[in-house]
Amino acid sequence: MYEQVRKTLPASAHDAPRTLAPVAPGIRVLALKTPTLPPAAHTNVYVVGPDADGPVYVVDPGSPYPDQQQILVEALAGQPVAAVLLTHHHGDHVGGAAALGAPVWAHAATARRLRVPIARELADGHTFDGITCVFTPGHAEGHLCFETAGATIAGDMVAGLGTILIDPDEGDMALYLASLQTLLARGTQLLLPAHGPAIADGPAKLREYIAHRMMREERIVAALARGEASTDELVASVYADTPRILWPLAERSLRAHLAKLVREHRAFEHVPGRWTSTGSSL
Ligand SMILES: [Zn+2]
Repeated sequence: MYEQVRKTLPASAHDAPRTLAPVAPGIRVLALKTPTLPPAAHTNVYVVGPDADGPVYVVDPGSPYPDQQQILVEALAGQPVAAVLLTHHHGDHVGGAAALGAPVWAHAATARRLRVPIARELADGHTFDGITCVFTPGHAEGHLCFETAGATIAGDMVAGLGTILIDPDEGDMALYLASLQTLLARGTQLLLPAHGPAIADGPAKLREYIAHRMMREERIVAALARGEASTDELVASVYADTPRILWPLAERSLRAHLAKLVREHRAFEHVPGRWTSTGSSL
């Protein structure tokens, strides 16, 4: 079955279909072009509910482009939309939220950041029509996943293509790691990310993500143990295995890690941009 799931999702978005493809029991998907973080160029719109006739929920209709919004309207083939559900407030997830003319539901912290009116505020544990909201802050303050009997719509918790950026200005690395653990504890097998193909072995992917972030954190701690370092020096040391073109993004991720370590009293910034592992500069 998971092999089948993989085949229904486009590996690359160039061959993205214009129709809704079944991806899990009661869930269909359509990838629409969005202004998102390369190498991803599309955001998956998930449609939860019956294949025909009954009302459906549309998760993250993110495309701001009218031609892409039109593809979604045509793919829905007149099925009524009970509500638009948003995983979080980023533009590539909300760009087409108002275009469907349906009520938009999201977490209160997402609602605060959007101009589109939110008809219902969702929170952890809210359940409707077989969908359960799971609060997963970290990538964004109001991030929600939507769990059904067969799969979890994972938003930007994990990616089937590219990477998840935890931005120091609005993300929180400690919360993100805790949210990865939350999803792992719920044990959903099939994860449906906003970018890229479905993830058949969800628990393995979540463990991989947690291990990867912990590996980076350990490298930062080890680098600081060797002595005071500038932000640039830390990037060069911690992300030595990452192409230089990605270092500006790596620096943002590094800052999110450092913010976590500072809160834990494992890193200190006595002078802006210079980091140590001890509370004393002596
Ligand atoms: Zn995002």
